[in-house]
Amino acid sequence: MKIHNFSAGPSILPKSVIKEASKAIIELNGIGLSLLEISHRSNHFTEIIEEAKELTKELLNISDDYEVLFLQGGASLQFYMSALNFSSTNGKCGYIDTGTWSSKAITESNKLEGETIIIASSKDKNYNYIPKNIIEKKNLDYLHFTSNNTIYGTQYHSFKNILNHYPETALICDMSSDIFSRKINPNNFSLIYAGAQKNLGPAGTTLVIIKKSIFNPQTTHFNKMHLENLKHLPSYLKYTTHIEKSSMFNTPPVFSIYTCMLTLRWLKNTGGISAIEEKNRKKSDIIYHEIDRNPLFEGYTQKDDRSIMNATFKLKRPELKDKFEKLCTQRGISGIHGHRSVGGYRASIYNALDIQSVNALIETMQELEKIR
Ligand SMILES: *Cc1c(COP(=O)(O)O)cnc(C)c1O
Repeated sequence: MKIHNFSAGPSILPKSVIKEASKAIIELNGIGLSLLEISHRSNHFTEIIEEAKELTKELLNISDDYEVLFLQGGASLQFYMSALNFSSTNGKCGYIDTGTWSSKAITESNKLEGETIIIASSKDKNYNYIPKNIIEKKNLDYLHFTSNNTIYGTQYHSFKNILNHYPETALICDMSSDIFSRKINPNNFSLIYAGAQKNLGPAGTTLVIIKKSIFNPQTTHFNKMHLENLKHLPSYLKYTTHIEKSSMFNTPPVFSIYTCMLTLRWLKNTGGISAIEEKNRKKSDIIYHEIDRNPLFEGYTQKDDRSIMNATFKLKRPELKDKFEKLCTQRGISGIHGHRSVGGYRASIYNALDIQSVNALIETMQELEKIR
């Protein structure tokens, strides 16, 4: 039976990518050695990481002022690392609180000297919407937000509101669960980061897209003292270390990066961002249409802010839980349990998930309606 993988992360990857990645564990491209037993400084590997960077730049249309890095420590390390590099002594750091992941970023920022300011939040309704009211603060060191809230199923459909309120501020965005899913303009940001395991590859690497000119004394908006302080940060936690060493400061996670590269190739060969965005919108339309139509279900989030990557919903009558979940098992629907902080269900419909799988899910929802 085909299993339809709606897991929130680590999550579905293209079958062809998994096949090719598994082959490389035995032997990489006929070189007589496994991908896992060659030097990361060999041509075999440097070609792989260079291709991954180039594909990232090409697919997202990133200008040459940005460096693409593949780091470790997950998005979770980026919570701290971004604050550490961007916040100044006595400075003010702005955060938008849209749920668990942004809250964790706020926790890390609070460990540093600067003042952490929440300029918008949707906590009052357990994060079921994207806050539209943004407080304006002068001279923020940066503004951090989460583009797609994996757990709650909300997403910024446009960054205009933020850009209008903070046109001059360095923007930092956690795009872990919607990077490469739709067209964005990366050139609006000083830093974008994303754990690979949602839409890009296996766990183990974090994609970081960072604007290089902010570290250049001639072009930076950082003051002298800030630039001086940066020099004394731990080597691994400085973006400049990784920029200078092209992600090779220490041994990079070779398997994870290789698999990301294969996913990016797949994405390019299937039509790039515009084609995948169309597919993702189709999938999310199908699922939200069923959530709204089917009298047994209701969506969790406000309609305008619904994510095209993670659809959260509940049963209106909780007593149908066992019946629904049994049907899901019978039909190969896997990984739709909601996060414990929201409950109900969450269908993660990342890039590699096919429309057939979404159809299998809505047929299961319709079957429940017929037999209940
Ligand atoms: C999954 C996720 C994270 C956590 O990523 P790690 O790589 O496990 O640290 C952070 N932010 C968002 C939006 C996520 O979806």
